[in-house]
Amino acid sequence: MKNIMQKLINFMYGRYGFDKLSYFLFVLCFVVAVVNSFRGAYTLYAIELAIISLVFFRAFSRNIFKRQKESEAFERLLLRLRIYKLQKPLRNLHLRLIYLRTHRFRKCPNCKENLRLKRKTGRREIVCPKCGYQFKIFIIF
Ligand SMILES: [Zn+2]
Repeated sequence: MKNIMQKLINFMYGRYGFDKLSYFLFVLCFVVAVVNSFRGAYTLYAIELAIISLVFFRAFSRNIFKRQKESEAFERLLLRLRIYKLQKPLRNLHLRLIYLRTHRFRKCPNCKENLRLKRKTGRREIVCPKCGYQFKIFIIF
């Protein structure tokens, strides 16, 4: 087993490997595969194969400079499409799920900061720790 791992490490030496673009292509391929499981079209199957071939071609490529250029172009595209703006709402949703049993979340009406409050039902007055604005909240359950 150790011998196989060593051979794999030697094989990957000097090759590009996987990056964000590879993971994106993997997800894209998975989506195409799920869609194709309903349709069963040969063209979609060919697209899946092409995407997977591209991922492995990039991973085993020795032209690291060119692969890095592709990766940078992909990052620029993400910035231009403002994909990163989706990160904050997704993080907030994640936090709400984590603290579902113990806390409630409210937005400060003054500075729009997302506040995590102890789960105490009823009306109460709170002070925003960021801007000091005082406002009333009502937690039902
Ligand atoms: Zn505030």
